[in-house]
Amino acid sequence: MLDVQIDRTSCMGSGNCAFWAPEVFEVADDGVAVVLDIRNASIENVMRAVEGCPTQSISVRSDDDEGHSVSHSADAAAGDSSPQAPKS
Ligand code: SF4
Repeated sequence: MLDVQIDRTSCMGSGNCAFWAPEVFEVADDGVAVVLDIRNASIENVMRAVEGCPTQSISVRSDDDEGHSVSHSADAAAGDSSPQAPKS
């Protein structure tokens, strides 16, 4: 089971997350991202959004096959590289 959260206090509304995973993220009218629906989310797209978030506001948790909780963050996903902006 996937759990995706956005820290709305640090989100700057760049829209990178909605670019990478439009089925999961949307920038709301208040200029801050929201999570739409994660039931059909592609974990690859979600992780691209995590890596591409300039403020590291997205956190993802999933349960592995044995039911253990696994956290994903931009720090872990990006390694030594900086978050990347979407390429057009
Ligand atoms: S990529 Fe990050 S900062 Fe940009 S809208 Fe999404 S959550 Fe907010």
